[in-house]
Amino acid sequence: LLSKETVLVIQISMLADVLRDDQFAIEQRFIIMFYCDDLFDHSVTGTMNYSRFLTAVSAARKPSPIRILTELQQRSPPTLISLAGGAPNPSTFPFQSVIITLKNGGSIKFDEASMNRALQYSGSYGIPELISWMKDLQRALHSPPTVAYAAEKGRMEMCVTTGSQEGLCKVFEMLINPGDNVLLDAPTYSGTLAALQPLGCNIINIASDHHGMIPEALRRVLSRWDPAEVRRPGSTVPRVLYTIPNGGNPTGASLTAERKREIYQLAREYDLLIVEDDPYYFLQFQKPWAPTFLSMDVDGRIIRMDSFSKILSSGLRIGFMTGPQTLVERVVLHIQASTMHTSTFTQLMVSKLLQDWGQDGFLRHVDSVVEFYRKQRDAMISSADRWLKDVAEWHTPTAGMFLWIKLKGISDTQKLIMEKALEKEVLLVPGGVFNIDSSLPCPYVRAAFSLSTPQQIDEAFKRLSALIKESL
Ligand code: PMP
Repeated sequence: LLSKETVLVIQISMLADVLRDDQFAIEQRFIIMFYCDDLFDHSVTGTMNYSRFLTAVSAARKPSPIRILTELQQRSPPTLISLAGGAPNPSTFPFQSVIITLKNGGSIKFDEASMNRALQYSGSYGIPELISWMKDLQRALHSPPTVAYAAEKGRMEMCVTTGSQEGLCKVFEMLINPGDNVLLDAPTYSGTLAALQPLGCNIINIASDHHGMIPEALRRVLSRWDPAEVRRPGSTVPRVLYTIPNGGNPTGASLTAERKREIYQLAREYDLLIVEDDPYYFLQFQKPWAPTFLSMDVDGRIIRMDSFSKILSSGLRIGFMTGPQTLVERVVLHIQASTMHTSTFTQLMVSKLLQDWGQDGFLRHVDSVVEFYRKQRDAMISSADRWLKDVAEWHTPTAGMFLWIKLKGISDTQKLIMEKALEKEVLLVPGGVFNIDSSLPCPYVRAAFSLSTPQQIDEAFKRLSALIKESL
């Protein structure tokens, strides 16, 4: 019945007893427990020793005793009498009940009891029914090899985050020290750069094309180091790789399954963690959907970010982090110390909707959203064909909501957009803001096909075309 950890500790303390040195016994026991904990991790997930990835700040985070009680209370039967929490009494809150009408004619009801719960503090991992629903979804979509969610030894965990942005920000703070080498394929999401750059790390750009990060380029960069150096204290070998695998923001690029497999193999060779930031996963225009890094993760080296922003609502702020238990726990400790939890109200709202829909209903909804964006994308491509053929180049994205357009003969789009485009009443994002050094010239612009009507998109490209021709 004993874990490996316990057995090893007993053996060592017996040895110390023989030496009749109590002080020695205590110290040895402590050190060996630490060491065995590492061994235990290895035995379950193969090669991972998560302690080498944590920053001192993250390693120092401790659970708040009050939050532990809240988690306990959340999982207890309603007969439990708790005098423990410092939660306010919801009977004093002014809100009585809510009925949210759905576009398909259904509704989500919050009666007084569920309203009281929705307006109260809740656990930092997320409300249990939402987490449980999401774990089932992750299992169905990715069947991660490291996971037996239901089994005691399951090493995967999930938590709710306030949008995937919160997860990203907290993951970076957990993993990245000033001076660390971090790998990503720029141009990349400006919110990622905003979270990463203040940490003082050295961002190494891996070349990419319209299929995303190029594995050969990653191999070339990594060949600056010897894989044997990886675990040497003070080693400068990168430990974190970040990428947006589907419908990249801003490039619209999607990684092929083959590239993902190659990148995962390199991550194994150099013991990298991969941050898979995938808010456009559900906006893939073709089926079958690409296999994710999580679905290949035999070691437990993937931290996956999902988001409901593009398929249910961006304002609800519901995102999810899926990854090794040890790392998710660190992020949850950070959540405990910062926001405490994502809004209970929005979590319950989404959870009620999902329970009502079931997995099939949810995936049918996703299909209808995909259909909408596919039409938008097609409209943007035909307008681009109509107005921009002579003055620009692009690749048709297979996921997401962005078209990444290279303007011919224009070395930097910053001035063109910020100074002249407004005069023509058309607005796009100059590509430079997505580069690690935003002051470098960049001939690209990002156009979103999410919000405007096909007619507006057509008119916008007509204006952009005139603008480019004038500047040339
Ligand atoms: N990652 C990427 C690549 C994004 O494009 C976005 C949103 N634009 C986010 C993360 C954050 O999304 P949210 O916080 O709304 O889930």
